[in-house]
Amino acid sequence: MGVSRRGFLGILGGAMAGATLAGGRANAQPPSSTSADSFGCLVDLSLCVGCRKCEAACNKQNSLPQPDRPFDDMSVLDTFRRPDADKFTVVNRHLVGGAPAYAKVQCLHCLDPACVSACIVGALTKEPSGAVRYDASKCIGCRYCMVACPFQIPAYEYSEALTPRVRKCEFCFERQMEGKAPACVSACPKEAMAYGKREDLLLMARERIRSSAARQVTASTEGAADAASTPAGDAAAGNGAAPLPLLPYIYGEREAGGTSWLYVASHPFESLGLLRLPPEAPPRLTEAIQHGIFKNFVPPLGLATLLGMAMYTLRGRKEKEQ
Ligand code: SF4
Ligand code: SF4
Ligand code: SF4
Repeated sequence: MGVSRRGFLGILGGAMAGATLAGGRANAQPPSSTSADSFGCLVDLSLCVGCRKCEAACNKQNSLPQPDRPFDDMSVLDTFRRPDADKFTVVNRHLVGGAPAYAKVQCLHCLDPACVSACIVGALTKEPSGAVRYDASKCIGCRYCMVACPFQIPAYEYSEALTPRVRKCEFCFERQMEGKAPACVSACPKEAMAYGKREDLLLMARERIRSSAARQVTASTEGAADAASTPAGDAAAGNGAAPLPLLPYIYGEREAGGTSWLYVASHPFESLGLLRLPPEAPPRLTEAIQHGIFKNFVPPLGLATLLGMAMYTLRGRKEKEQ
C-alpha cells in the first residue's frame, strides 16, 4: 500500500522545513524530550457514549465560538468531523458491526512532535508537562506544522484576515499548572478519560486490557466493512504503515514515536477512525531524508525546490482525480 497524499506531504513538509533550516539552524528546534513525569490522558473508547459533554467543556474552557447547533443536538454525529479552528475536540460516531461506537479526537501531544520540529520560529513547544503549546506572537503563518502533523490536527484561522492563528488543543495547560485535569476529562460523565502520569496510564491501560474479555479478541475483523465505507475508514487505511494490530493494543504507546494521549478500545482502532502510523517519530523520518540527500551534496534550496515541485504535482494529481 502506498503512502497517502497527506502522509507524504507531512514528510515533505517536515523535510522542507528542515532543508530551509539547514542553511541557518539558529531557530531549529532540538528534538523534544519528555520526562517520565510528564502527563497524559488515557481515553477508553469502550466507555464513551457520544454525549459530547467533552466538546462542550472544551468550547467553554477555551472561549471558542458557539457552534451553529447546540452540544445536545446529536444529529451532529451523523457527519464525520475533524477538529478545526473553532473546535479543538470532536466526538465521531462510527458503525462497527452495525452498532454505534464513539471516538474522541484532539491533538495527541506527541512525545517528539512533528509540528514542533517543523516550526522554524519556535512558535510550538513541547512542555515538560506533556502539552504541546502554541505562541501566536512568534508564528509567521507558514503552516508547516499543519502539513507535518501526522494526525492532521493543527487548524488555521482562515476567517481571520489580519491576525490568523494556528489553533489546536493545548492540553488545557493552564489547568495542568493548577494541578487540575483537562476540562474535557473532568466533564465526562462516563469517566471515559483518565488524566495522570503517562507511565501510570500505560499501566492502567494494560490492566484494563487484562481485565476486559472484549479487549482480548486478537483476530477479529469486526467493523472492517463499516470502517471502509466511512471517511474515517478511508483515512485510517491510507498512510502506508502496517495495519494496526488488533486488540489488545494501546494506541499511542508507539504511534509516531509515542503520544501523551493514549487509547484503549473494544473495537479495532481503524474502525474508529484512528490513523495507522509507523512507530518512528516523523522528525526522525524527515532527518533521515535530509541526511540521505545532504550526503549526496544536494543543497537546501535545491531540495526545497524539488519537494515543492513534488507537492505541486501531488496536489494537481489529486485535484484531477476529484
Ligand atoms: S498530534 Fe499533531 S499537532 Fe499534536 S503534537 Fe502531534 S504533531 Fe503536533
Ligand atoms: S485537553 Fe483541554 S483543550 Fe484539549 S480537548 Fe480537552 S478540553 Fe479541549
Ligand atoms: S463526555 Fe465522555 S462519554 Fe461523553 S462524548 Fe465525551 S468522552 Fe464520550
